[in-house]
Amino acid sequence: DNIASLIPYPPGKPLEELEREYGITGSIKLASNENALGPSPKAVAAVTDSLKNLHRYPDGSCYYLAQALAEKIGVSPNQLVFGNGSNEVIQLLIAAFLAPGEEVITSQPTFLVYQKAVQAQGGVNRVVPLVDMHHDLDEIARQINEKTRLIFLDNPNNPCATVFSNESFAAFLDKVPDQVIVALDEAYVDFVEPSLRLDARDFLKHRVPVVALRTFSKAYGLAGLRVGYGLMHADIADYLHRVRQPFNVNLPAQAGALAALSDDEHYEKTIAFTREGISWLSREVEKLGCHAFPSQTNFFLIDVKADGKKLYEALLHQGVIVRPMNAYGYPTYIRITVGLPAENQRFIKALTTALGEVE
Ligand code: PMP
Repeated sequence: DNIASLIPYPPGKPLEELEREYGITGSIKLASNENALGPSPKAVAAVTDSLKNLHRYPDGSCYYLAQALAEKIGVSPNQLVFGNGSNEVIQLLIAAFLAPGEEVITSQPTFLVYQKAVQAQGGVNRVVPLVDMHHDLDEIARQINEKTRLIFLDNPNNPCATVFSNESFAAFLDKVPDQVIVALDEAYVDFVEPSLRLDARDFLKHRVPVVALRTFSKAYGLAGLRVGYGLMHADIADYLHRVRQPFNVNLPAQAGALAALSDDEHYEKTIAFTREGISWLSREVEKLGCHAFPSQTNFFLIDVKADGKKLYEALLHQGVIVRPMNAYGYPTYIRITVGLPAENQRFIKALTTALGEVE
């Protein structure tokens, strides 16, 4: 029954199909929080070079990737578990630690995958609405009971792009019992202003088991390769290794991620163009009478003060793909990912036209 009532994660249509349907060409996609700059050229070269070994299984332990990452972020390799995107690490946590009938607490809205993975496992979702677009940490703590096994907190939150501080997270953990794992999803952590950035490493020795989830899909621009990881106490990692597939991270993905880690210049370029893009876009959007919500990520919400779904359609007709937010409970909002400067300009032009059409 839990599988029969599960609604699959909504897959976007292939770009070419969308273009055919809407009779457009040369569209731009600002819908999936990807890195418009693309990956480091070093990652592309490493992926290309790895193709000569496609007949071989990948390294089942991600040995070199784990060594390099552990050194870069100052942890031990046995505290890392890699996955086919951080999505897989979410699933591994649920597979290892949640029995049917046990509970997981998430916010609403939040990243859709947590609740779907819980349902697939026969677990129970306990959902706490965001307050003022932020996780309601007090209410989440109140909802914990003897059946609670996991709490997922995306920090920054998707879709609201808000963050909580080290202090509020520490105060929250004080109220969490030891048997509950707190998964801190840091998919967008790289984009957070350093002064507001919570450092998950500060919490890895906490009485409460904290697992940070990170990805190469966003700041490193490798969404198509599917590689993410969890950072955790080695004892928890040991359990995740028991339930994961032996070769869960493919060969080009390991090569690309490893090379991406060595290109700090490209990483910094990504962070800079993202910040500049967010502030330029926010200013321009406000000039058009819309409200741009502040963001600590590579995307942000816009209140277009009109039907968001209709506005999404009007943008699509002009070849600009964004994300409507009606399914998230925000009927007048759209979510847009920062593009390259020319894409951002095209979005603003299209938004100007679209607003005239839907009003
Ligand atoms: N967490 C959040 C909050 C996300 O928004 C996303 C991607 N949209 C992910 C995790 C999944 O990332 P990955 O590509 O590593 O599976």
